[in-house]
Amino acid sequence: MIYESTRDVSKKINPSEAILQGLSEEGGLFVLRDLGKKKLNLEKLIGKNYYEIAEEVLKLFLDFSNEEIKYCVENAYRGKFSNESITPLVELSDSFILELFNGPTSAFKDIGLSLLPQLTKIALTKVNDKNNILILTATSGDTGKAALEGFKDVDRTKIMVFYPNDGVSTVQKVQMQTQEGENTKVCAIHGNFDDAQSGIKELFIDEEFKRQLLEKNIKLSSANSINIGRLIPQVVYYVVSYLELVNREKITLGDKINFIVPTGNFGNILAGYYADKIGLPINKLICASNSNNVLYDFLTTGIYDRNRNFLKTVSPSMDILISSNLERLLYYISDCDNKYVAQLMNNLKETGKFEVSDEILRKIQEKFQTGYTSDDDTKKTIKLIYQKDNYLLDTHTAVAYKVLLDNFDKEHKNIVLSTASPYKFTESVYSSLNDFSDEDEFILMEKLNELTKVTIPKNLKDLDKKEIRHNDVIEKNDMKKYILEKLGDL
Ligand SMILES: *Cc1c(COP(=O)(O)O)cnc(C)c1O
Repeated sequence: MIYESTRDVSKKINPSEAILQGLSEEGGLFVLRDLGKKKLNLEKLIGKNYYEIAEEVLKLFLDFSNEEIKYCVENAYRGKFSNESITPLVELSDSFILELFNGPTSAFKDIGLSLLPQLTKIALTKVNDKNNILILTATSGDTGKAALEGFKDVDRTKIMVFYPNDGVSTVQKVQMQTQEGENTKVCAIHGNFDDAQSGIKELFIDEEFKRQLLEKNIKLSSANSINIGRLIPQVVYYVVSYLELVNREKITLGDKINFIVPTGNFGNILAGYYADKIGLPINKLICASNSNNVLYDFLTTGIYDRNRNFLKTVSPSMDILISSNLERLLYYISDCDNKYVAQLMNNLKETGKFEVSDEILRKIQEKFQTGYTSDDDTKKTIKLIYQKDNYLLDTHTAVAYKVLLDNFDKEHKNIVLSTASPYKFTESVYSSLNDFSDEDEFILMEKLNELTKVTIPKNLKDLDKKEIRHNDVIEKNDMKKYILEKLGDL
């Protein structure tokens, strides 16, 4: 089983190396050329649980043994999610909500970031690498915390997370500052998310720095969604939720359904496309954007143009203008044309823009539909669904729900992917239902709970009473010095 770079057919490596390396050296993403040659046997999976389905799906993407895959899946999820079915499917009056937020940090990133560390651990043994791994991550909130939880006390790994001191929500900051684990380090920087991100990227190409680490038997790796080890776990819940509809006799095996996905980096929805490739009957994948609607424009016109203002919205985890994983879709849609993809990505780098051919756009639109939602409509949708279905959406899920309502397809069942607990974005959710109240997030959490009776996730409740373990704040240019200094503590 061989992965190759989206931009260079000669860059070929096995799955373990792809997981450890994250990104190909010329900037391409790793992809399986033969994706879809082998299909899932869906009939055989009816009635199976999340773990059993995960094992069958992962086999199509990894050359790990059955025992290794089982070990990874068990360690990632058993006892770590608040709902036994991992991703419960909730029926509302006119659609289904797939809850992806029952993991240790209440965001959907837990699904990928719980499994990635386990895959990393096995990958290290398979390539016979004696070094330890240092995960460096810059975060605007959700990824950092989910990565910390996933890698916490995992053998042969250490993790350091950097976040902008004034750029994350109160809940997100306290979630990170109270992080436990002997191999974790969290640090704020004076600067914004881009400063943190660029700082990390520079370290990944700093040969002197990497040599210094190697002297300590440490190699760098990354935990963001360009890593296949984070993407593949996300294919599983598409299959699980489809089969759940079959179990509940809402559809019969073979019927096609729609998935509506609140999208930022295009990782989640791309996992849906992978599910389609391995044989899941999908009618449309509906890409929902907020006002940063660069993907909406692309999917309707074929022109991707990031030269525009970056807007801050009430769905901050989707505030993104470069959707990295789109590159993988372009690779598959162009029938694995690495040169074509390299050229588009080069245009994006040089001009901030690229345009695909009519033929490519038409092929994309056969499977993808799109829409976008303003902040105002996001908040109205939270209120509407709460009143109509007594169900509390978070802001990201509400973006997707509004897009569903705007394009309602009665011919097919519709599953909306829910990516965060409403309590992660308490202020926006609370003010959607009630007059805005300028109070402490943790007081608002209690108020929202009193109002709606929706349970506060255990990891968020009493977070303000947990011990602060990380309160370092540094200048943005001091990250390298900080890492070398603090590495000894881990
Ligand atoms: C990361 C995130 C998204 C966007 O997912 P992508 O895979 O980047 O498209 C949506 N909602 C929430 C809450 C997230 O944390």
